Amino acid sequence: MADQTFNDDPQHEPTATSTWSRLLAGNRRFAQGKMTHAWQDRETRESLIDSQRPDAAVLSCSDSRVPPEIIFDAGLGDMFTVRTAGQIIDDSVLASLEYAVDKLHVSLLVILGHQHCGAIQAADQQIGVLASRVRHGDNSSETAQSLASVIDDIEAMGDAQAAQDAQDQLEESLENLLPEAQSPIVRLVGPSVLQAYEAQLRDHEDIERVHIAHTIEELVDRSQPIQQALADERLIIVGARYCMDTGLVEVLSF
Ligand SMILES: [Zn+2]
Repeated sequence: MADQTFNDDPQHEPTATSTWSRLLAGNRRFAQGKMTHAWQDRETRESLIDSQRPDAAVLSCSDSRVPPEIIFDAGLGDMFTVRTAGQIIDDSVLASLEYAVDKLHVSLLVILGHQHCGAIQAADQQIGVLASRVRHGDNSSETAQSLASVIDDIEAMGDAQAAQDAQDQLEESLENLLPEAQSPIVRLVGPSVLQAYEAQLRDHEDIERVHIAHTIEELVDRSQPIQQALADERLIIVGARYCMDTGLVEVLSF
């Protein structure tokens, strides 16, 4: 059995900082292939039958390669986990996270994105289709381009002012179209993609980072209980991104 967890010691209330340090230590063990798989045994299961007291809640992508309990080498009862493709937020996600904060009293909420996120790739690709339609018209025979190449074409226009106007107009049209998109991925990840492009960030790794920041903003904006927990200093929200290449979690905001 590994080190004692905080759940096990009523004298020691974990702080968000100590919980996060413990999760990061677990992630380092995972990346090094030295997991302890602690608290996954029968005794732990039996000790948790009547109640749970997780220290952290995690909102992560549903991607099969990103299970939070495994990449943080955590055990039963350690973390309250909510997962959606692209870690997008809807009412069910909000209600689940608010339950973790208000009823289970987690002091740490981790918003976990990841490298090679298919939701980011899908949103970027779909916005390219929308952008092509905006530029060439719905019935155009022009094939769909990526958003990057649509913008490149605009920038290649001789007149800098005309190019800037066209780009502003495209961005405005896309901002208006996104809320009406049928796909929740386009509706909810799309704004992050646009925000990244507006900041001249086109690389998917950067868009993944922008999306994590945007998700935190969205979460705080939409949840009064979470705003209250932050104001009472009962909660800390961390933005992080899991890198498949290394197995390590990149800390974006703490
Ligand atoms: Zn993903």
